[in-house]
Amino acid sequence: MARYKDSVCRLCRREGLKLFLKGDRCYTEKCAIERRAYAPGQHGQARTKFSEYGTQLREKQKVKRIYGLLEKQFRLTFAEAERRKGVTGENLLNRLESRVDTFVYRCGFANSRNEARQLVMHGHFSVNGHTVNTPSYILRPSDVVEVREKSRKVERIVRALEAVDRRGVPSWVELDKGALKATVKSTPVRAELTLPITEQLIVELYSK
Ligand code: SF4
Repeated sequence: MARYKDSVCRLCRREGLKLFLKGDRCYTEKCAIERRAYAPGQHGQARTKFSEYGTQLREKQKVKRIYGLLEKQFRLTFAEAERRKGVTGENLLNRLESRVDTFVYRCGFANSRNEARQLVMHGHFSVNGHTVNTPSYILRPSDVVEVREKSRKVERIVRALEAVDRRGVPSWVELDKGALKATVKSTPVRAELTLPITEQLIVELYSK
């Protein structure tokens, strides 16, 4: 599977905000945004005024980067969101939040979405008792995601769970920390998603 391999802190600096792509480091003063809060590259400190298209493009790039998707995967997710009933922008965020890798990160089994994706691909989780190793697998309400028996001592999972109280879990997640399992209580609604995203800009961009 294709994936982004360059510095992830550059992505935050390009978008001008913390995207929390590096786990623990994002909460320390080592965070690149804390030290260099301007875009990377030679002209990073120049003032930039975006056109309407530029603003829409930046918003799409930001969401892609938050969820760690490349263009083709993001396009496919958007196409699926468009096919569904309801508001396309909300469907898009809903779909992104329903991915098993995002859920694993949200419930605290991983310190970042990137780490969650790796852990899922390595087969450390089951959904309703069946091993799932596809990060894009879509969860539904009442699905139960569990750390598999053989993976209960995996250091990355144990370490991530220690930090879960600091990060907190969202309202649509019911976490049983002792049993290393989490249930999807409901489909997340837009008001519950506190990420700084204006999804309408993405819809406008793709409607051109
Ligand atoms: Fe972004 Fe985290 Fe790097 Fe800070 S440390 S720039 S939040 S990825």
